[in-house]
Amino acid sequence: MPNQERRDDMLSADEALQKILEAVRPLERAETVPLTQAAGRILACDLTARVDLPPFDNSAMDGLAVRAEEVRGASAQAPARLPVQALLAAGAEKGTALLPGQAIKIMTGAPVPEGADAVVMKEWTRAVNGMAEILHAPKPGEHIRRRGEDVRRGETLLPRGSLLRPYEIALLAAQGWTQAAVWARPAAAIVATGSELVSTGTPELGFGQIYNANGPALAAALGRWGVDTIDFGIVPDEKEALRGAFQRAEAEADLLLISGGVSVGDFDWTRILLEELGLQVVFWKVAIKPGKPLLFGIWNGKPVFGLPGNPVSALVCLEEFVRPALEKQKGQAPAHPSYHLQGVLGADFWKEEGRQQCVFCRVLESPSGFQVHVIRPQGSAMVGMACKANALAKIPAEARRLTKGTPVAFRWLK
Ligand code: AMP
Ligand code: MG
Repeated sequence: MPNQERRDDMLSADEALQKILEAVRPLERAETVPLTQAAGRILACDLTARVDLPPFDNSAMDGLAVRAEEVRGASAQAPARLPVQALLAAGAEKGTALLPGQAIKIMTGAPVPEGADAVVMKEWTRAVNGMAEILHAPKPGEHIRRRGEDVRRGETLLPRGSLLRPYEIALLAAQGWTQAAVWARPAAAIVATGSELVSTGTPELGFGQIYNANGPALAAALGRWGVDTIDFGIVPDEKEALRGAFQRAEAEADLLLISGGVSVGDFDWTRILLEELGLQVVFWKVAIKPGKPLLFGIWNGKPVFGLPGNPVSALVCLEEFVRPALEKQKGQAPAHPSYHLQGVLGADFWKEEGRQQCVFCRVLESPSGFQVHVIRPQGSAMVGMACKANALAKIPAEARRLTKGTPVAFRWLK
């Protein structure tokens, strides 16, 4: 049948991702980094709190520290009137105790004086003839942040495997730490194969040549995901050169990304040579468009991806399959790809049956939700097309004709 894929030798995109996640192991190589460089990293050990947070009872407001029972019933109509005994700033030293029948001016973060059990916020107070008027009766404990109410010394602060977001950095800093033990960043090798490729910066393209788009694109994506790259540059479709590059990449990196030469052409050596060198192929070809020729295997325990040479396919495979593998290597729960957003098609869309399609779209927000407009034509070599898109829609393998208004899942292309 024309236009029909042979699917019997292909995994679905979901099956392929599952096999990748089963095969990839966390690296678990620990290193210590300054807190200011720890965002996005994964904690390598359990952490126990060494100080209470807050470390002492303190005021949550600028206002007046009082004894709640002494100002019971105070209101705007019937204010309580107290002399002001002292002024306490944040950072104030210990020693002040609230005398009976008095109030202490207190600033946010200042230690609550002994004897006080509530703070009246400044907006509910008034200064009248050198006295303080209180226009609101606080409940006992009001606007006081109690020692240890957030974190108690000795409790588990964060378990190993926690992602360090700026909130976790704040928590570690609040404990007084300047650095954290985290899992090391994986190092990925990038090898661009193809005798037609020349490096960017080469002034003129010779006949039949193209610039290496994949090398810079893959490195840029990995850098954003907290992965180091080792760029092996361009390698022509010659067996000896390819073998040498693959071996050097395997020796130096934690994960290998080889672009091109992974399909069925006469000079597509990637899979054949890698197998000769010891790659255990987990799968070759996935029922996805773009990205069908994707190769995945394990070589000396290291994940190896043979990415299609076409840049749009290479980048789609990178996000759909390599990113979750890297998340797992980093010690993180894989969270990508995530198509949790939903929109409706702005026009009818037809596709071949049998392959999941990742469709480049322009998604517009309207009062009724997201409108998904497919960019036409789509093409796995068309990076210009991809740059017109702000989103990638995921159309299931079994779908064929989708009419305007059909709901589709998408994710933003960032
Ligand atoms: P291949 O996967 O080697 O069959 O390549 C498929 C297509 O992608 C061919 O048209 C190649 O010229 C092109 N291609 C391969 N590698 C790259 C690259 N690094 N940058 C841009 N295009 C590439
Ligand atoms: Mg090629």
